Amino acid sequence: MQDMLWRASRLRSTWQELLSLRLEGSADDPMSMSDPVARAERSMELEAHLSRGLIDFVHSEALFSIKRLLPADIKVLYVGEGFGMTDVGDENPFNPASKESPPPHPKKGGFRLTEYLTYNCLENQADELHLLASDWTCPKCEAEMYAGPVQRIAHHAKCVQGEESDAKQKEVEAQKSKMEEEDAKPNAREYFCHECEKTLWLSSVQILKHKRGHS
Ligand SMILES: [Zn+2]
Ligand SMILES: [Zn+2]
Repeated sequence: MQDMLWRASRLRSTWQELLSLRLEGSADDPMSMSDPVARAERSMELEAHLSRGLIDFVHSEALFSIKRLLPADIKVLYVGEGFGMTDVGDENPFNPASKESPPPHPKKGGFRLTEYLTYNCLENQADELHLLASDWTCPKCEAEMYAGPVQRIAHHAKCVQGEESDAKQKEVEAQKSKMEEEDAKPNAREYFCHECEKTLWLSSVQILKHKRGHS
């Protein structure tokens, strides 16, 4: 559940970044990337992440209920200013760009994790958002810690992003070595030999020789 919340929020910010990248044109935007190549690359990366993420997200199963709130409910919905001040840690996994810990919500109480998400501001907290920290083992790296829900999500986010950047690094390296190979042999092309079940880099003459070697 917490993981879904984080994924939803991440998809939302990815979508937002992609949109603003597309709509970008104003030079006074501080986030503006002036390099069109970098912009196109980032845009592709975001798009890939978004389409993959949305599919995963839609296919994940969650049970939830929706409650319709009446105006009278809303009056007693929030704990109010100065309440819900549980320790959320210094990191805000929902807004990783911000280096500050999430600020308290001035009206609702609790903390503002993003402009649309306030943590611990409700009376009658659902069980999974209860205030108390507990012993927790990260399912990804098996680190054990004593942490509250926001800290757990913060750790989870780091683990997932660490995995992703490792995967990306590997991809970049594979791409690089492939390009180096191509550069090293200007006449060579990729040739898949069914007998060796291997991809080889050979010139046309070398391919003929290689084929002959099998007969
Ligand atoms: Zn972990
Ligand atoms: Zn062969």
